[in-house]
Amino acid sequence: MSTFVHDALPGRVVFGPGAARNALAAEVGAFGATRVLLVTSAAGAGPARELCAPFADRVAATFSGVRPHVPVEVAERARAAAAGADLVLSVGGGSTTGTAKAVALTTGLPIVAVPTTYAGSEVTPVWGLTEGSRKTTGTDPRVLPRTVVYDPDLTLTLPPRLSVASGLNAMAHCVEAFWAPRRNPVSSAVAADGIRHLAAGLPAVAADPADGDARAALLLGAYLAGSAFAVAGSGLHHKICHVLGGAFGLPHAETHAIVLPHVLAFNASGAPGAMSRIASALGQDDPARALHRLGRELGVPAGLRELGLREADVDTVLDDVLALAPADNPSPVTTGGLRTLLHAAWAGTAPATEDS
Ligand code: NAD
Repeated sequence: MSTFVHDALPGRVVFGPGAARNALAAEVGAFGATRVLLVTSAAGAGPARELCAPFADRVAATFSGVRPHVPVEVAERARAAAAGADLVLSVGGGSTTGTAKAVALTTGLPIVAVPTTYAGSEVTPVWGLTEGSRKTTGTDPRVLPRTVVYDPDLTLTLPPRLSVASGLNAMAHCVEAFWAPRRNPVSSAVAADGIRHLAAGLPAVAADPADGDARAALLLGAYLAGSAFAVAGSGLHHKICHVLGGAFGLPHAETHAIVLPHVLAFNASGAPGAMSRIASALGQDDPARALHRLGRELGVPAGLRELGLREADVDTVLDDVLALAPADNPSPVTTGGLRTLLHAAWAGTAPATEDS
């Protein structure tokens, strides 16, 4: 057993069908909050307000101007809406959690998060802000939600295509946790279990989006995925998606779902131990090809070109990704290797592992 460092993160988690409806008032009440800022998307505002009905007298303001990737001007408006608030309650996907984090970053207000996708941001201390076409991320313990209420019922309305892409985004957190900079035996164990839950839940939710048990498996997998990612940090895959997302405004979850198999193939020869644990958790011999195939079977677009990216755009991000690529990525990241990886992800061809 090698020596390791594991930064366990604080946070309370309440998980279960009906948890948001039954436990949210008490969880918010535990903070003694009387002037809550509710952060939600415009589309999610109705259901979010319904959840707040039992403590409506303690909701002082609602911010529903959430935009993908948290543009700085949105962060500023959300911070203005937080004037006088004593708690931020976010109800929504990763963009909503990210907006709540932007508020906490400058105000220090505690966050109670109710996630409605499988993004996992609610258990990480990572914030992200986008200015123009450049996304900046950072880590700050103040943005880590203090309490997370996971309610699989809230994910029943997530459309199948988005459910699959978001579930594969969680899969990316698990997979990358095996070679991310602060990986350790604890984060790897959590990631492996996350892969098992996600691999079981994804096809079941695609087959029947109303399957409550499958929704619970995906949400538990997403929680484990976010927890592993929060500890291990982000590696090459996240750096690629972060640059592409910021530069071209690509949809976060689908970008992850498309790129992941290609990064897996790229790292396969440099990380045989990780590959064998990922393969065993997935129950598949070739994880890169298996995840590509799974995405295709479940309706994820094959390539980034289907998200509207032009082929010429791919070469414009090479330098930015190279500058961010972790020095200890299992396979050395060269301009040529990265170009091949990104063009394959753009075209949507099956990932090429060495033995395929
Ligand atoms: P999102 O929050 O933008 O949501 C995608 C779409 O789904 C939106 O249109 C939203 O209104 C809709 N939606 C959400 N929940 C729904 C539900 N239950 N029913 C119906 N529709 C629903 O997307 P996302 O993939 O959840 O989050 C992506 C963002 O999260 C990105 O900006 C990404 O960088 C960030 N993120 C951050 C971290 C972190 O640790 N900081 C981790 C993961 C993701």
